[in-house]
Amino acid sequence: LISIDDLVRWIRAFRDAVQQHKDELTRLDSEIGDADHGSNMARGLDAVVATLDPAPASPAELFKTVGMTLVSSVGGASGPLYGTFFLRMGPALSAGNVDAAAVGAALRAGLEGVVSRGKAELGDKTMIDALSPALDAWDAAVAAGAGAAEAARAAAEAAARGRDGTEPLVARKGRASYLGERSAGRLDPGATSATLLIEALRDALE
Ligand code: ADP
Ligand code: MG
Ligand code: MG
Repeated sequence: LISIDDLVRWIRAFRDAVQQHKDELTRLDSEIGDADHGSNMARGLDAVVATLDPAPASPAELFKTVGMTLVSSVGGASGPLYGTFFLRMGPALSAGNVDAAAVGAALRAGLEGVVSRGKAELGDKTMIDALSPALDAWDAAVAAGAGAAEAARAAAEAAARGRDGTEPLVARKGRASYLGERSAGRLDPGATSATLLIEALRDALE
């Protein structure tokens, strides 16, 4: 089973990864956006980590705090979208044992929140292009009998492939869409940070 400590470790690992890749995320956003994705995410996740001491008592409480903090501390598209992701995860984990299937269902609820808030579809060159294949890989691994660590490894590989697959795409949502065809040939910054999110989960569960 996955503990609250594992989940807190995930969020801390995500913050650390975003700090490590902050300049890269901002550089990617400078190519097809407004050069603030790294600073947006780093600021938001620093605010999140400040709420983790003392650690929240339950997954539902953890994800509510993470989501509310991201919504309120990050301007731009990514704050409300990542915030919604975590706000939707909490209720999905409020009852019963947190096993690999439950985490998969909670991640799915988070993704559905991002889709309903941002109205992007697969292939629009957004974070969804990393998250959606990652969650499909998670579910497939769990259906094949994998535990959480193995599911997370499969999900992280799928997220990275999805991120890489955003390079040739033309953006249809967010600031990058203002560039039209000129957005092709660059990685999407949000798909890059979303891959860090799933890789952080893999690292927290190993
Ligand atoms: P902003 O574009 O407001 O400056 P950020 O630079 O922090 O915000 O985040 C940009 C990222 O947000 C994009 O790379 C993309 O992945 C994601 N994004 C933007 N709009 C949407 C949307 N409607 N749905 C899903 N993701 C989106
Ligand atoms: Mg930006
Ligand atoms: Mg911005």
